[in-house]
Amino acid sequence: MRQFRFDPRGIRFLLYPEPRIRADFDAPRLVRANARPGSVAPGPAGRRMYVIDALNKDPYRDPATGDYLWRPPYPRHKPRVDSVRPNARGHFDSVVPGTREFSSAAVFASVAAVLQVWEHYLGRRVRWSIPGRQRRLELIPRVSKLGDNAWSGDGYVEFGFAGRRPSQPYCENFDVVAHEVGHQILKRVIGRAPEGRREFEHRSHEEAGADLVSLVGELHFDRVVTRVLEQTKGKLFSVNLLSQIGEYRRGRSGRRAARLAFHDKTLADVARARKDGDKHTYAQPFLGAAFDILVEIYEDHLVRRGLISGDLARRSTRTSGARNPAIRREFAKRFRLNPDGFAEVLREATADFAGLLALAWRKTRRTGASFSRVAANMLAADATLNRGRYRQLIGRAFRRRRIVPRLRRP
Ligand SMILES: [Zn+2]
Repeated sequence: MRQFRFDPRGIRFLLYPEPRIRADFDAPRLVRANARPGSVAPGPAGRRMYVIDALNKDPYRDPATGDYLWRPPYPRHKPRVDSVRPNARGHFDSVVPGTREFSSAAVFASVAAVLQVWEHYLGRRVRWSIPGRQRRLELIPRVSKLGDNAWSGDGYVEFGFAGRRPSQPYCENFDVVAHEVGHQILKRVIGRAPEGRREFEHRSHEEAGADLVSLVGELHFDRVVTRVLEQTKGKLFSVNLLSQIGEYRRGRSGRRAARLAFHDKTLADVARARKDGDKHTYAQPFLGAAFDILVEIYEDHLVRRGLISGDLARRSTRTSGARNPAIRREFAKRFRLNPDGFAEVLREATADFAGLLALAWRKTRRTGASFSRVAANMLAADATLNRGRYRQLIGRAFRRRRIVPRLRRP
């Protein structure tokens, strides 16, 4: 699958490609929106979305129940901070990190980046699915009354603060923004959840899918690719920056932790979550399987490029992942010889993985979004895109999670 690259002629923005919530988060980085300099108005406001830095805003939905209290657009007479203006050349990268202007510009840039990446793999424009007359997505970067939360709903996305701390706006965490945009994209591509017995699994899949939208988005920043590989020495079956992105959840202990894509959970382990209606926990086996598929595609590319041996790839499995120091050392040795080659391979694997997901999700519109059906759709997508090159590894990854790829219930 052809890789996506940002258009070097697009409008310049700054954003934090790595979760800013991490202690070792990196400096902000340049990103390009695919629009002509000068074509994005103060706000920022473009043709498909606009930012409003509302002041003292009540959330559109009740953070406890999710019920709508009111709806966008945010009325003109309500209080807000002045729009962020582009610089004289039409770019937005002169904003200063740590200011409200930075939040506004970064949230716009993050949404634009996710959208560009996914439209490339989907092979089509994504129009927001917004009921009513509104056409553009409204982005509200700072809603303190939302608390420790980020929400996406009909025609809007809005963000609270990690730990309710003013210094930790969620809107500056690319992965959180991408997750919320992921919900919007999936609603458009797959459709809204049906009512009845299929609703829960559809919503669970959407949570996993939103994390995958985010993961793929993140991997389109060269800086993230470099850092992940340096951190893991090329061995991605481990707990790392990639396996921890998405939406942050407070655990039972009350401590906040990113959802983890690297784990052993099967559907049997999360049966309880289904009874409790906990869609995030129930999504874990699907997310874990998808993460394994990405890593195995990456290792497959490494072998084909001669960067690691087939024998090392066979021994490197999810279970030997973080625990086997010998395998880690072997990876580190190979990685040191050609770090740029590993980075290229990770970008290629990401493109193949994103292509599979995109086509599988398009097929899911017809089949419905149970885990089994999406898994079957990934196999079908692989047959179309790669003549079944990844058939075995995809089937294996899902079956390990007790997800059986099939289109019809027996
Ligand atoms: Zn979500």
